[in-house]
Amino acid sequence: MGLYQNRIVIKVGTSTLTNEWGKSDFRSFDRLACVLSGVQNMGYEVILVSSGAIAVGKNKLNLQAAESMRHKQAAAAVGQCSIMFLYDKFFGDYDKTIAQILLNADDMEQEEKKENLIHTFDTLLELGIIPVVNENDSVSYTEIESDEKLFGDNDMLSAIVAVLCRAGKLIILSDIDGLYDSDPRLHPNAKLLSRVECIDESKYALAGGAGSRRGTGGMRTKLKAAELAVSQGIDTIIANGRHPDAIYEIIRGGVSGTLFPGKL
Ligand code: GLU
Repeated sequence: MGLYQNRIVIKVGTSTLTNEWGKSDFRSFDRLACVLSGVQNMGYEVILVSSGAIAVGKNKLNLQAAESMRHKQAAAAVGQCSIMFLYDKFFGDYDKTIAQILLNADDMEQEEKKENLIHTFDTLLELGIIPVVNENDSVSYTEIESDEKLFGDNDMLSAIVAVLCRAGKLIILSDIDGLYDSDPRLHPNAKLLSRVECIDESKYALAGGAGSRRGTGGMRTKLKAAELAVSQGIDTIIANGRHPDAIYEIIRGGVSGTLFPGKL
């Protein structure tokens, strides 16, 4: 079965949605809602995979220092309400309806649950609704603490959702412009790679460790996610979440960030 070329999954991380004090960055929520609503008005089906629940919840509960699992899970439960409230408000301003889907890895492993999920996504999209997806962190701690945080940072979740929904494109928004030929935080002359045909060890070596303090991901988990999506034929782009306007350029086929062309 082929891909839906007009179906796009966009992933946004905690570092884009919160400011340096860990509070919600309303401008980021608003800009994202504005661009994604505009993209949907152009005839695309949009699925948003959003992190931010734990950071926003911790901030709301004044739990900055609390790193225990039970506090993180409690924070996720509180913060998820807050981020959905903000999305509902900002997407509402652009005349859009959103829906919340919370997932764990095993939801995708059981055939029956998987089928249900596919039907729910398809129905929401048919109805012109923008699903907003996050991990169900309050239910499963493995998501938050997995060794490589493969599912836990939402990068891999976004690739899994893209594969499940047979999306034509996956756009992973990061706090930097894409994959560089060396770490741009250490090397000011680092060059952005605009197209990467093959995700091999040499690319992982370029990815380095985790990204900002507030998210758990980094370039490595984004490459892992890209590797999965690309292997299913899905064009994957890593771009800067601070400039969501770039999404217009990307869907027009222009160059913004790093493109990993889908291969089958
Ligand atoms: N699912 C987590 C959240 O929503 C992801 C944490 C992250 O890596 O940003 O907070």
